[in-house]
Amino acid sequence: MSRAPTERRRSTGSDASDEVPQAGLCDRCTYCRIRSSARGGRFYQCLRADDDPHYTRYPRIPVAHCSGFSAAD
Ligand code: SF4
Repeated sequence: MSRAPTERRRSTGSDASDEVPQAGLCDRCTYCRIRSSARGGRFYQCLRADDDPHYTRYPRIPVAHCSGFSAAD
């Protein structure tokens, strides 16, 4: 399934208020998307969960070990 690109990487700016928490492997995984809530919260979504029930749609971060990890470009 193809998905439109969304925000998915941490800010590289120096403003600490713009920082996204470190997500471990999800931070570098091609299957990770960062979603924002209406209240300004941010959530890491695992796209593998769409097709495989072994994965959690919104994994608890930081993720230290994951068999589905695939390094993003
Ligand atoms: S496959 Fe694993 S590392 Fe990749 S986004 Fe999902 S939970 Fe994170």
